[in-house]
Amino acid sequence: MDLGIKRRKALVCAASKGLGKACAMSLAREGVDVTIVARTAGPLADTAEEIRKAADVHVTAVATDITTPEGRAEALAACPAPDILVNNAGGPPPGDFRDWDRDIWIKALDANMLTPIELIKATVDHMIERRFGRVVNITSAAVKAPIDILGLSNGARAGLTGFVAGLARKTVRHNVTINALLPGPFDTDRLRSNLQVVADNAGRPVEEVARERADGNPAGRFGDPAEFGEACAFLCAAQAGYITGQNILLDGGAFPGTL
Ligand code: NAP
Repeated sequence: MDLGIKRRKALVCAASKGLGKACAMSLAREGVDVTIVARTAGPLADTAEEIRKAADVHVTAVATDITTPEGRAEALAACPAPDILVNNAGGPPPGDFRDWDRDIWIKALDANMLTPIELIKATVDHMIERRFGRVVNITSAAVKAPIDILGLSNGARAGLTGFVAGLARKTVRHNVTINALLPGPFDTDRLRSNLQVVADNAGRPVEEVARERADGNPAGRFGDPAEFGEACAFLCAAQAGYITGQNILLDGGAFPGTL
């Protein structure tokens, strides 16, 4: 299926590894020119090269912290009017809410709620003018079913989800959609470090905890980031203009609800 987005421009945040990288790769394979952002220059340059080898597109790498105003300005200078915006950033650390002061909360809100909102604000009017725009927010399965040790993520992402629910119904008239992909457990560095925390707390080997978690998923495994990237590319397709304001779970069926 041709997704009809060749030569479109995408800004993909937090994209040197994991889910962001997979989204950038899938978009590039559809012929989209991608600007990828991450803080650490080395792995980012490696990912840019990997994408160039896999797809005949322009790849621009911007090594910056997307959760800061300066970082967002740098990313937008490199890709001022994207047709596609993939919002992503590192997730907040796990812990007990009794240990979190205001500064810790503000950091989580900045990364996982206010940064995506700022980037939408900076790009959505250009999309509306061109009558094409696709925004995909990478949030978390925690938006549907909270994860106890990830209270910062539960809170910040729910805030973003509520805001987007309103805006997505305003922009769709102009063929600008805003949706969220909610990852369950995908096999990335982030998942591995969360499993390490669980294993350390329980005094168990991380491999054992990982195996148990994977087995406990209805699919019997963790998700492959490439599967996530392909779902992102579809939401960005020309054909996906009637899908907006949706929160799509990719969790192997782990969420137990009928709907
Ligand atoms: P990952 O494998 O650790 O990759 C994170 C990527 O984001 C890296 O490229 C990292 O590069 C970049 N990054 C982190 N903070 C950044 C910042 N402030 N500015 C720019 N780039 C930044 O993580 P992942 O598993 O793909 O997770 C992506 C998002 O999905 C996270 O918010 C995570 O909480 C959420 N999520 C993941 C899962 C899962 O199972 N994997 C499940 C639910 C939710 P640098 O460190 O060099 O900046």
